[in-house]
Amino acid sequence: MPRDFLQHAKAEYDVVVIGSGLAGLTAANVLARAGRSVLLLEQHYKLGGMATWFKRPGGHIFDISLHGFPYGMVKSCRRYWTKEIADSIVQLKNIRFDNPMFSLTTTFNRDDFIRLLTSDFKVSPESASAFFDTARGMNFYDDQSMTTRELFDKFFPGREDVIRLLMEPITYANGSTLEDPAISYGIVFSNFMSKGVFTFEGGTDKFIGLMEQELRKNGVDVCIRADVTRVDCRGGRVRAVEVNGRTIRCGAVVSNANLNATIFGLVGEEYFDKSFVDEARTVRLNNSSTQVYMALKPEERIDESTGDLLFSSTAPLFRTEMLLSRNITSRTYSFYYPRTRPEGRPRCLIVSSTNANFDDWAKLSKEEYEASKQNLIATTLDALDKYVPNVRERLAHVEASTPVTFHHYTKHINGASFGTKFEGLAVSRALPQQVTGLYHAGSVGIIMSGWLGAMNYGVIVANEVDAQLMKAAKPALTTTT
Ligand SMILES: Cc1cc2nc3c(=O)[nH]c(=O)nc-3n(C[C@H](O)[C@H](O)[C@H](O)COP(=O)(O)OP(=O)(O)OC[C@H]3O[C@@H](n4cnc5c(N)ncnc54)[C@H](O)[C@@H]3O)c2cc1C
Repeated sequence: MPRDFLQHAKAEYDVVVIGSGLAGLTAANVLARAGRSVLLLEQHYKLGGMATWFKRPGGHIFDISLHGFPYGMVKSCRRYWTKEIADSIVQLKNIRFDNPMFSLTTTFNRDDFIRLLTSDFKVSPESASAFFDTARGMNFYDDQSMTTRELFDKFFPGREDVIRLLMEPITYANGSTLEDPAISYGIVFSNFMSKGVFTFEGGTDKFIGLMEQELRKNGVDVCIRADVTRVDCRGGRVRAVEVNGRTIRCGAVVSNANLNATIFGLVGEEYFDKSFVDEARTVRLNNSSTQVYMALKPEERIDESTGDLLFSSTAPLFRTEMLLSRNITSRTYSFYYPRTRPEGRPRCLIVSSTNANFDDWAKLSKEEYEASKQNLIATTLDALDKYVPNVRERLAHVEASTPVTFHHYTKHINGASFGTKFEGLAVSRALPQQVTGLYHAGSVGIIMSGWLGAMNYGVIVANEVDAQLMKAAKPALTTTT
């Protein structure tokens, strides 16, 4: 008999959370702490969504999206998770750039960037400080008409090299482009610049494992291999979800699935106003990625001066569209030293990431797809040899993932690494006005994506769900006029 992954699930909950990405996990935890009964349903066989890892024989553990996040994670993990999780967050101190315009190493914070801008790039200290102050002063509700390109042109006209330094890492971090609203750049950039780039000591497996422990302690019912196929919204309010052939009643749903998949797949457009559906149709998906995962032989070491994160490019100029091209010129390498997992077996691993388009991979035949993967591996090893000499001979394991892989494991349409573009945020926020009890939390826009953005969005939405459930439970006020 097939295993029943829902055997411990009850017939009804206050809230069902669909998906265990960082927004889903955090929303579930905050709601459970608020005393709500919560069911977390994840279609994959492990929790974490894009915040994931995989193991290979020989003690190699690869992290998929643990390249770096801003310091704000410490506060969010402490407040909404545990001290133990927050205390495992450590800084990555060697961030490197290597491209035809410049090569440098930085701690990637404001002081060091001002130093570089003024000493290496010969920008005036006034312009550098004014730029940082403007970026830091930006907030969520500001005017969105200025683009990131216009912001740069205001402070550093004609300085393609400065734009590259300031923009390239953020494009990698969340897929944003020079044509996106400047606030989406300014907020994310300032988040990083406050203290630098951070990582989780112990790896993603430890991070998600601690979260799962905490969720269960707080009473969340957690089910993996639980694929939600429908959210029942009859009568304009959430009533239940259908999962693995079962119907589970609930007062609210937080969907952590892709925004477009939630609206057009799980719910169905007939439950929304026409104007909302029209707006939702204009939401663009973010790009996807390819990655090459490399493990060195157990006795092999990489010198730590190689860096923690290396933004490398052979392109003469920084152009967003070139970052997506099949003709790869830019690669971001994450170097994982034995200190990444101090309790694990001492290993050196490298993950090379490149932004990519889904269609470039999804439309290939099986043979073409395999050949393209092998080509991706070969060209990556060629490029990496500059930084890790004789890398081919030193490897114990190498494999690649593509946009199709990300789609397969998370069901994100087109394998989008960062959900939707900026306009997805307004659509995500408007869901509960369309259907009572229907919420979305997960990578949308640029601010609400990445580890920190997704977690914080989960908190915001959980508080709204709690308020709605409280309102729904109140007896109706009788008016006596
Ligand atoms: C290659 C790569 C590198 C990255 N690097 C970084 C980085 O260095 N730093 C950083 O901050 N961010 C990084 N990110 C982005 C970051 O990982 C994501 O923005 C974040 O983890 C997304 O969280 P989320 O809550 O939006 O959910 P997701 O991680 O997208 O998870 C959604 C979950 O919903 C589940 N689901 C979907 N449909 C259903 C259904 N019908 N029923 C049940 N479950 C369902 C999926 O299986 C998945 O588990 C990277 C992403 C990628 C792909």
